[in-house]
Amino acid sequence: MTLIGAHIPTKGDLVSALDAAHRLGCDVVQLFVKSPIQWAASTLSEATITNFKSSKQGSEVKLVVAHASYLVNLASPRPDVLLQSRKALLGEIQRCHLLDIPFLVVHVGSHLGVGEKRGIQRMKESLHWLFDHLPPSIPTFTLLLENTAGQGACLGYTLEQMAEIIEGLKPEMLGVCLDTCHLFVAGYELRTSESVNELAKLIEATIGWERVKLLHANDSLHPLGSRIDRHWHIGKGHIGLEGFRHLLSHPKFSQLPVVIETPEPELHHAENLNQLRKILEAE
Ligand SMILES: [Zn+2]
Ligand SMILES: [Zn+2]
Repeated sequence: MTLIGAHIPTKGDLVSALDAAHRLGCDVVQLFVKSPIQWAASTLSEATITNFKSSKQGSEVKLVVAHASYLVNLASPRPDVLLQSRKALLGEIQRCHLLDIPFLVVHVGSHLGVGEKRGIQRMKESLHWLFDHLPPSIPTFTLLLENTAGQGACLGYTLEQMAEIIEGLKPEMLGVCLDTCHLFVAGYELRTSESVNELAKLIEATIGWERVKLLHANDSLHPLGSRIDRHWHIGKGHIGLEGFRHLLSHPKFSQLPVVIETPEPELHHAENLNQLRKILEAE
């Protein structure tokens, strides 16, 4: 059974994100473990941790994943921002560990104009830095790298680039989260069963399916190959319901937990989740 759920953007209020997901009937929830738009984070109190864990037990939510702060840029050419990003992400890994959250999603960084080659090198160094700096209390952790739309100087918009970045790190440390909107605007066609089959083969040939742990299901406001990242409501964008039908009926994609990150969660999450559930029921 495919796990279906949503990103609930509560800026780090953990229990309310879990409650909202439960009310929406989510099997999986993605949340922030701290404010996504600030570097600083208060320490997690014992009470917060206990509260979160007991709420999780009492809810229908089967899987919790975290999304890293938007400020983090593991490929930054600025040494101060690079170090701050690495330390902040290490802090988020520690929070996930305390909260029993198995996956933390982080975007591949932006080279900010110094070029893709140097950006990729820095990105790789950052990932190795992180795993070298895990405290002994965290023997292992799975970070999920998310593919990007290729907007501006963002790296990680091709599967080949993703493969180059993750090379040399074990799959239990470094997995991949695939975002349908990002794939599509980066130029990967999703609207026919042939194109979805082709993509699945390319995934196997580049990053390998054993790395792929999560699917972000977002429709796209902008067309194929536009490299503009604007998530849109399921079935109402350029990917359309057909695209999601092909993805969710594919033997590989349908194995992944699915999280929507569509706009205006309070108004539209219920409807967007229903669209996906209807597709799955029709299978
Ligand atoms: Zn993301
Ligand atoms: Zn995403």
